[in-house]
Amino acid sequence: MELGFSNEIFDEEEKKKKDSSIQRIICEKCERPFPDHCICSSFPENPIEIQTEVIILQHPKETRVFRTVPIIERCLGSKCTVYRGRKFEEDLYPLLHKQLQDPSTFLLYPTKEAKNAEFIIKNKETETQVKRLVVLDGTWIHAKKLFNWNPKLGTISHVKISSVPNSTYLRKQTQKGNLSTVEAVAFALGILEENPDISNQLLKPFHYMMDLQRNFVKSLNLPEREK
Ligand SMILES: [Zn+2]
Repeated sequence: MELGFSNEIFDEEEKKKKDSSIQRIICEKCERPFPDHCICSSFPENPIEIQTEVIILQHPKETRVFRTVPIIERCLGSKCTVYRGRKFEEDLYPLLHKQLQDPSTFLLYPTKEAKNAEFIIKNKETETQVKRLVVLDGTWIHAKKLFNWNPKLGTISHVKISSVPNSTYLRKQTQKGNLSTVEAVAFALGILEENPDISNQLLKPFHYMMDLQRNFVKSLNLPEREK
């Protein structure tokens, strides 16, 4: 897997991880606390077979407890690349920029110009098909910042998904239908690859992670956080 990290921020993250590992063991494979919250048993045996390449641009402050990018990386294997940073400039990220110039690279982002994934698939004769999906990871505000900081993203094609179930992710939802990154990728790939099983396989570890968390919260006898 190819990882592009923005240097000093990554070092800081590593340091934090090391500091926290003194108190608890983190599973190397799923990056969840081991053994109680390890979700490795829910991953597919082999990477899910897909045609689409997934590129994730991750805001460096994406440190939510329920980060879902490790799930995507693990499920998609070499089909997923993660870049972490704020501004992905051409001199530092030449491969990324080359990919962004390809007309079949689409940003998964709901701009006014964004085409519905269903529409693209239904109109194969006339519509450019999505070979590569760029996804912004972080809170909704972080995603917006990444979009604004990287003007190139505004110039490429955009794709959106509509009519998806409300998120089951336990975090503050700033608006209805706001999805976790793994949900967004799972639903988009399910439509673009015309195979709902891809969504199911990607969502299985995510749902398992949320189930473990719900049981954990229940065991503490605390009220569940609002959805
Ligand atoms: Zn694990």
